[in-house]
Amino acid sequence: MRRVRFLRNPLATEIGDTVEEFLQILGGPASVFLDGRDTRRTRALVTLLHGNEPSGLMALFRWIKSGRQPAVNCVCIIGSVEAALRPPLFSHRMLPGVRDLNRCFKPPFEGAEGLLAEEILQILRVHHPEAVIDLHNTSGSGPAFGVCTHLDREHDALVSLFTERMIVTRLNLGALMEISEHSYPTVTVEVGGRLDERAHELAWEGLCRYFDRDRVLAGDEPVWALEVLQDPVRLHLNPGVTLAYGEVPDSTADVTLRQDMEHFNFATVGPDEPLGWIRGDLRSLFWAQDAGGRCVLSSLLRCVGGRLYPATATTLFMITTNVVIARSDCLFYAVPQARVSP
Ligand SMILES: [Zn+2]
Repeated sequence: MRRVRFLRNPLATEIGDTVEEFLQILGGPASVFLDGRDTRRTRALVTLLHGNEPSGLMALFRWIKSGRQPAVNCVCIIGSVEAALRPPLFSHRMLPGVRDLNRCFKPPFEGAEGLLAEEILQILRVHHPEAVIDLHNTSGSGPAFGVCTHLDREHDALVSLFTERMIVTRLNLGALMEISEHSYPTVTVEVGGRLDERAHELAWEGLCRYFDRDRVLAGDEPVWALEVLQDPVRLHLNPGVTLAYGEVPDSTADVTLRQDMEHFNFATVGPDEPLGWIRGDLRSLFWAQDAGGRCVLSSLLRCVGGRLYPATATTLFMITTNVVIARSDCLFYAVPQARVSP
């Protein structure tokens, strides 16, 4: 059963006065096709795979309202409309009890979210886009970055439409980026915090570059020189370990991390910068594996007299100070000794 609703060249007057009205008019997952000045080529934009990440849909709404025509055809796929519509609007990553849509882009395509993921991939196949950009927001506040599975000039060019930071990762989570990548250059762009006005503005500026330019792959001048972070590792707490954030060690917690940790997002932190305090040895508290499944904890962290430090100069990102997210997902991503692309 097809779930995605198709719209072609909607007029500014047909999409409501606000992005919230646009969402209500869509009512469910949708594919908006915009004819380009050059109709021989097509680019794809995917957004709202997570219902609480509105920047991409806001940018698309603004584009349609502007009445502009893109350089080439654009197929715009809007995923978790139902989750976004659940009150309060744009607050649910997914509906309660269903799978994360951006973990469903790999077989078997089961359940409602799996079938929707499969249908999105079919739409992409039909249009055979020259590129795919999947726009997201981060949960917390922080700078923008791109994510892709490997590095070349095409991926560089796509990410640099939005940001100067790129993460290259071989994690296999079932994200759209990982499977679409086999057919078309595909990148994920995290434009910044979901409540952050700057993130909405960046999504708009990047979308304009993506839609407007005659060429978006190799050949155009990059907007920025990219800072590339290769193969980040995720730092996890072991089961049962208690966590707190604070300015002094919390006597009830096994691990206390600094309250101001988020300031280190995308900063390179030196080995003498204290990150917090721990009780017990590192291995009993944390685990961290690289893409090959090897334990890399000792190359990430060290402990001196109960104080926690990076083992070496390390770039940290996706840092959270939310205990629930830190426990269920991870504390942060880390790349020891960041490399910057030439
Ligand atoms: Zn997301």
